[in-house]
Amino acid sequence: MKISLNRSPWLAALAVALSVAAGCQSSKNAACCSTAVRSVPAQASPTTKAAQTAMTPAQALAELKAGNARFVSGHPLHRDMQADVKATAAGQYPYAVVLSCIDSRQPVEIVLDQGIGDIFSARVAGNVLNDDILGSMEFACKVSGAKLIAVIGHSNCGAIKGAIDDAQLGNLTGLLAKIKPAMDTVPADVQPRTSKNYTFVDDVSEANVRLVMKEIPERSPVLKGMIDQGQIGLVGGMYDLKTGKVQFFDR
Ligand SMILES: [Zn+2]
Repeated sequence: MKISLNRSPWLAALAVALSVAAGCQSSKNAACCSTAVRSVPAQASPTTKAAQTAMTPAQALAELKAGNARFVSGHPLHRDMQADVKATAAGQYPYAVVLSCIDSRQPVEIVLDQGIGDIFSARVAGNVLNDDILGSMEFACKVSGAKLIAVIGHSNCGAIKGAIDDAQLGNLTGLLAKIKPAMDTVPADVQPRTSKNYTFVDDVSEANVRLVMKEIPERSPVLKGMIDQGQIGLVGGMYDLKTGKVQFFDR
């Protein structure tokens, strides 16, 4: 995403002065600038090819963290959606691909404060992995140039609870079966191992994220090669439904 200051020149100058006074070193550090420029929201525009090319995996993760910090603080960037639609009509250069749950309370672009053209978003109940999701990630990274794969689970996940309860329903049964191996990786002293125990539910959810992170390079030589060469990064995280905060963790 490209960030600039909008509104009139003198207001923009004032915002810059305020942001400098607040200790901001870069417009990328929008989270720290948000308070100082509250009356003049920074203007975000879709990620450009040049910005995507120049971005490192570490910078891509920093962008996601900064976006979530803006969301949590209540100061998302200003976006002209219709202008962004026009700007991205001819091409897209997203810098990350995010795998997350379909849960309506975790809309990824909103909670990470990303706009049109910034990230690929793959959503499936329980953020499980399958061949089609892997193919989508390969497209995102190898073909379209994304620099980071983020797998983000969330607290109090219904899919995780369904797996714990051994729910049986049509095609959902097969989906939940993909989550069950994560249950076995949660330490035995976490009791009771039921969907009523939120600690166990969230531990399984985090274990599921880590399992997916482990499987991505194992099941995709394309992505493994890019990870091994440092061309892309792989990170996991957990979204807290109560706070709106994503806690990222490393491999
Ligand atoms: Zn969920």
